[in-house]
Amino acid sequence: MTWDLIGHEWAVQLLRGHIVQNNLRHAYLITGPSGVGKENLAVRFIQAINCPDPVEPGIPCRVCQTCQRIARMEHPDLFPVKVEENSTQIKIDQIRELIHLFSLTPYMASRKIGLLINFEQANPQAQNSLLKTLEEPPGNSIMILTATTANSLLDTITSRCEEIKLNTVPISITKKGLEQIHGIPADQANFLAHISGGKPEIALHYNQDPVSLELRDTLLNEHRQILQGNSVERFSYVSKYGKDSRMVNKIIDTWSSLWHDIMLQSGKSQAPIQNIDRSNEINQIVNKVDLSTAKNTLNFFLRAHSLLLNNANLKLTFEDLLLHLPRFENL
Ligand SMILES: [Zn+2]
Repeated sequence: MTWDLIGHEWAVQLLRGHIVQNNLRHAYLITGPSGVGKENLAVRFIQAINCPDPVEPGIPCRVCQTCQRIARMEHPDLFPVKVEENSTQIKIDQIRELIHLFSLTPYMASRKIGLLINFEQANPQAQNSLLKTLEEPPGNSIMILTATTANSLLDTITSRCEEIKLNTVPISITKKGLEQIHGIPADQANFLAHISGGKPEIALHYNQDPVSLELRDTLLNEHRQILQGNSVERFSYVSKYGKDSRMVNKIIDTWSSLWHDIMLQSGKSQAPIQNIDRSNEINQIVNKVDLSTAKNTLNFFLRAHSLLLNNANLKLTFEDLLLHLPRFENL
């Protein structure tokens, strides 16, 4: 754990090697599921590139002013770009401003670094406007992009970047990292590692924000009620949340993780379940469905998730999902 991150040690070794061998690329694309730690990896990489007093070659000290400014995204040669508040897209004007800043001489460091977070949220025009700079970055500047998947970006963008593809972190490594790096007691670390599905940032978020854990509980309880509810009750649930895209996405994430567990259990898989505090409920449902129903139900969630990523109508998509869920009496 040379960069004190949870998991992704192979990526750390690769990026560290690029620094030590003075072989940095012009553009990197870090991909992986939300919460897996893409942005943290990028920040540590930028610290490692710039730290004037590294612990070892390619290992940032994280205490000097440079490292701290980078962690706060306040370093004068670091240009973070992400969706602004009250917006759903990275706009072309943000990219134009970045390109302008890149054309100026670096202020302190030897190079400028652009950090484009969740770049799939940039519309095609904004993505296109970055192409020339990605191909011929001024000086020895570097662009680091993050996105859920490479497929969510234009091919012309991905082909100009070296992709670092992060996966969810094994539960045992997540647990160990939560304990050793963040000092979380073993039992809590084990619980968080499981319910986060091996996504360290989600585990840490649950740990720091008890309200988010309560929300998870509420949503799982509501899921149980919805499975027992008729269409009238399901429509009424849609009216409750159907205008709030953040909540609908949260519901889909939470409920689909439970259906993933149900599918694993009905297929007699040895893989660990995510919702370890809900194992009774999962077993109850497993006794009522066969493997193909579990798979189909999970697919409805995946379909709704992908439709919403492509800007489908929120209320209709949510309604359609709820009406496709199986109905059980006496759960
Ligand atoms: Zn430092």
